[in-house]
Amino acid sequence: MTWSVRWKVAFGTLVAVACGLLIAGAMTVQSLEQRYLTQFGDALEAKVKLVEYGFQPLFLSSSLPTSSSLQETARNLGNRASARVTLVAADGAVLADSAVRDADLSAVESHTSRPEIQQALSTGQGRDIRPSHTTGERTMYRAILMQLSPDASPLVVRVGLPMFVLDREIADLQQRLFLALGIAFLVALTLSVWLAHSITKPLSDIALAARRFSSDKQIFHVRTTAQDEVGLLASTLNHMADQLRAKIDELSEDRAQLLAVLTSMVEGVMVLDSRGYVLQVNPALERMFGISRVEARGRPCAELFRHQQLNDLVTAILRSRTHHQDEIVLPLSGRCLQIEASPAGGERENEASVVLVFHDMTELRRLEKIRKDFVANVSHELRTPLTSIKGYVEALLDGAKDDPSASMKFLEIILKQSDRLNLIIEDLLELSKIESGGISLKEEPLELRSIIDRTLSIIKPIAGKNRHRLVATIDPSLPSMAGDEGRLVQVLTNLLDNAVKYTPAGGTITVDAKLAPLIESVEPPARAIELSVADTGIGIPEEDRPRVFERFYRVDKARSRELGGTGLGLAIVKHIVEGHGGQVWVEANHPQGSRFVVRLPLNTPRRLHHVSRD
Ligand code: ADP
Repeated sequence: MTWSVRWKVAFGTLVAVACGLLIAGAMTVQSLEQRYLTQFGDALEAKVKLVEYGFQPLFLSSSLPTSSSLQETARNLGNRASARVTLVAADGAVLADSAVRDADLSAVESHTSRPEIQQALSTGQGRDIRPSHTTGERTMYRAILMQLSPDASPLVVRVGLPMFVLDREIADLQQRLFLALGIAFLVALTLSVWLAHSITKPLSDIALAARRFSSDKQIFHVRTTAQDEVGLLASTLNHMADQLRAKIDELSEDRAQLLAVLTSMVEGVMVLDSRGYVLQVNPALERMFGISRVEARGRPCAELFRHQQLNDLVTAILRSRTHHQDEIVLPLSGRCLQIEASPAGGERENEASVVLVFHDMTELRRLEKIRKDFVANVSHELRTPLTSIKGYVEALLDGAKDDPSASMKFLEIILKQSDRLNLIIEDLLELSKIESGGISLKEEPLELRSIIDRTLSIIKPIAGKNRHRLVATIDPSLPSMAGDEGRLVQVLTNLLDNAVKYTPAGGTITVDAKLAPLIESVEPPARAIELSVADTGIGIPEEDRPRVFERFYRVDKARSRELGGTGLGLAIVKHIVEGHGGQVWVEANHPQGSRFVVRLPLNTPRRLHHVSRD
């Protein structure tokens, strides 16, 4: 059981007061008792002397006093002295006793063994307090030796006084004293409770305020009017709390700012201590490595990531304490991360010692690769027809020109390759113009139906040649939209051209236009038109689907070239669609073929400058 300070103070004071009162009471009773006894004894001593004096005349007469005269005198003196008077001979025989009837006197036992008689016989005076053998009451005795003449045998005069009077007085005194002590105890009780309350109240106020402060960070302010040490303590605590609050606010602000910076950073940040244990990671890093801050903190970096190159980098910087840089590739996701590792100064455990910043270079590296591939592809694409042209021209020059049929065939090939070269260059120029924003997309009101009709009329003759069935389903409730009609025709032409190219004879090509489901998650809800071209052709393997919109990416290069493709058609489609703020993707068409879907927003502002560069 724990006692509060209040009860400890109250109880302690009470115990101290009670002990003090009891000791004082006991001592007072004892000293008063002593004084009463002394007074009582002194009075008895005076009485015994007077009684002795009263007996003397009996023995000074010529004849010896009779037993009855002695008894008479003893009774008289006893009455006057209000005490029991006994006259004892030196041999202990009781000669007279005021408390004994005359007839019984001879039966009274010898008094030699009485202490006061023995003392009186040996020293002249004797005293004792004990219950009387004769009366049974507690009695105080005083005895005195009566030596009438040197050769006469001595006598002892004894006076006994029952002590019940004294005992009653002392009991009365004790009663009154204990009553007074009881009242004093009650007063002390009240005072100690009040004192304990007045001392501990400000303390419990302080404790309460401090508890509130620690639990819900409320403003800490102890109100007290006390001017004493407790008041001083309260005002010091108030001051301390104010300072603490200001410091906490300042730190919270700094922390919030730091957190905001760390949270909003695109780069991953990881802080390690001098042992290489993780102290902090930001959300970007959590996403990069697929870990959570909770599982990361307090664990060794090596154990957490299990990436040899990263471990080596951390070990190196912890050892050398100089800036390091490296680039790693994550095994699972294949993401490429550039790491800048800088020493942060802390040398002890749980102190920031190294800060690692991870830049995700995946996209950049991808774009770099695309750029390199593009240059290689362009060169290759241009070189192929050029080599062919050069070869045939050389063949002509070498003599084939003299063979009319061969020269005709060669020239036709040269023309075809020149057309192809031209086509590639035109497509490239077109793409570069769209990418660089060299052409601005018009924003004219248009009907999708007329775009579809225009395109189908262009494509029909080619489709007819291949016995393709062309189907168009257009939602009659389609609203008109704003866009560049010429460019959208180009989009649909490219898609239909591909559908025709990659669908064997007799296949079906379906153009579908309808309203896309409303996207409620954005404000205002986005409305869009969905235009799709589906064929029953050779289809595109799933892994190639995301890449067919890249420049020169072809699933089957030879087949594409044979069919006169440049590998740029879908890249142009993607750029035009994105220029309209839309999206394009390809999915499998069931049961076979591909389905290209173009989603064009009806109420989203243009994002020409956001067109991706792949
Ligand atoms: P290409 O001029 O080679 O057709 P595109 O950019 O138009 O170039 O298309 C890129 C590649 O996507 C093509 O080479 C082809 O492999 C594939 N592709 C495009 N459309 C289809 C389709 N409808 N069916 C199957 N493959 C297609």
